[in-house]
Amino acid sequence: MYDVVIIGAGITGGFIARELSRYGLNVIILEKDNDIANGTTKANSAIVHAGYDAKPHSMKAKLNVEGNKMFDYICEELDVPFKRIGSHVIAFSNEEMVIINELYEKGIINKVPGLRIIDKVELLQKEPNINENVLGALYAPTAGIVGPWELAIALMENAMENGVELMLNSEVINIDKLESGYKVYTKDNEIKTRYIVNCAGVHADEIHNMVAAPKFTITPRRGQYFLLDKKAGNIVNTVVFQCPTKISKGVVVLPTVHGNLLVGPDAEDIEDKRNTETSDERLNYVKSASMRTSNKIPFNKVITSFAGSRASSDTGDFIIKEAEDAKGFIDVAGIESPGLSASPAIGKYVVELIKEIHGNLKENSKFNSTRKRIIHFMELSEEEKHEIIKRDPRYGRIICRCENITEGEIVDAIHRNAGARTVDGVKRRVRPGSGRCQGGFCQPRVIEILARELNKDITEIVKDGLNSNIAIGKTK
Ligand SMILES: Cc1cc2nc3c(=O)[nH]c(=O)nc-3n(C[C@H](O)[C@H](O)[C@H](O)COP(=O)(O)OP(=O)(O)OC[C@H]3O[C@@H](n4cnc5c(N)ncnc54)[C@H](O)[C@@H]3O)c2cc1C
Repeated sequence: MYDVVIIGAGITGGFIARELSRYGLNVIILEKDNDIANGTTKANSAIVHAGYDAKPHSMKAKLNVEGNKMFDYICEELDVPFKRIGSHVIAFSNEEMVIINELYEKGIINKVPGLRIIDKVELLQKEPNINENVLGALYAPTAGIVGPWELAIALMENAMENGVELMLNSEVINIDKLESGYKVYTKDNEIKTRYIVNCAGVHADEIHNMVAAPKFTITPRRGQYFLLDKKAGNIVNTVVFQCPTKISKGVVVLPTVHGNLLVGPDAEDIEDKRNTETSDERLNYVKSASMRTSNKIPFNKVITSFAGSRASSDTGDFIIKEAEDAKGFIDVAGIESPGLSASPAIGKYVVELIKEIHGNLKENSKFNSTRKRIIHFMELSEEEKHEIIKRDPRYGRIICRCENITEGEIVDAIHRNAGARTVDGVKRRVRPGSGRCQGGFCQPRVIEILARELNKDITEIVKDGLNSNIAIGKTK
């Protein structure tokens, strides 16, 4: 019998798993997909929000501000890219200046450090590419950018190192209440557990309804993006928002931790929870809206577009609590933005809830809080490069020409805890296919390496999700 089953291996499931691995508990994480971080965590703006936007005294506000403060040491412990570059919300009219003042007031109540309203002159000194008809901005020095899936992957590697089990391709299809605890059903397994933590993203309402009376519904709210080449990465130096609307924080222009430029998202309530398709119409909207921020965004340098889906709940706030009619079943639901920013604090909060239900937990004396990222060959000195090639010649073979990734790095990504099993899984861990050619050159080689290392046939290697086959047979 497990102590805790976590359903969903996104950023919240990852933080909770890692936080629980500090204690002597049997923990397993069940993920329906073939990789971790394949839901909302893989398609968002990657912003660690400062915390001025959330409604004062809400869970969102409290956990965002707390979570934001934790990013420096957590990303250092887990060796994950994070940059505290600050953010600006810009205003083009007196009405928008009023919104900026309201955001400032909210930020003060939410205890966001260092907030300032700045004038056009100061803004344009910091952000010379912003359209000149701007009037002023709200500056938040504590906002940052992070690698969201890199963080989720690092959390899972570290949680597994500390004893957590991960079961991929394991969609939870039913749950039975037992006299004490639960039985969780996937297609292939039945797992007994004392506690369940429901981190199923856009599907969290369905999981809740398997054991408890319906309390909330989750609506998927899709957002679409453009990702631009690294040549466009310095159009802005900080995260630049426009004034928020009732349903979204508006189209954002920001650099990524890897030096690309990200533009988006829009916000569109949709019906199908699995739908993350992009459309010309919505992308054109994103394009024209972002031109208001800066008319210097070089859209001829777009390398890809993508969409993500927010898990928007009808309660308007994060739902993180034990279900009233299901003891030991904890919902972590409605985790829309700023869920990524709040996720470290969500992890701690959920462990406190489990302590309240269970009583004090015994420490895991072997807990190791650190994890090292995969070596990036191109960042090594000449001496280090020679040394590593001598030990392992696979570091001397470049597979991805755009991002300069070697075979050695790809092999490491496959054989780690929670290692890559798909082409995009390799891409999320070591970046082949993230560059200008988007895998045009390296994809066949990555497929060959995956097949060889996993002892599979090439036709069994998929691009990303479960049915995303690439090769279906031999032509000759
Ligand atoms: C467009 C957009 C922009 C955003 N921008 C930001 C931002 O800049 N900053 C910020 O802080 N937040 C942002 N967010 C929000 C943030 O991305 C989410 O809050 C966060 O990723 C949610 O993580 P999660 O782990 O709760 O959900 P997910 O990452 O969706 O993970 C849920 C997991 O559960 C699995 N699952 C579902 N059902 C089952 C089942 N039955 N059995 C087993 N597994 C199951 C899924 O496959 C998935 O892997 C944004 C979101 C979107 C969509």
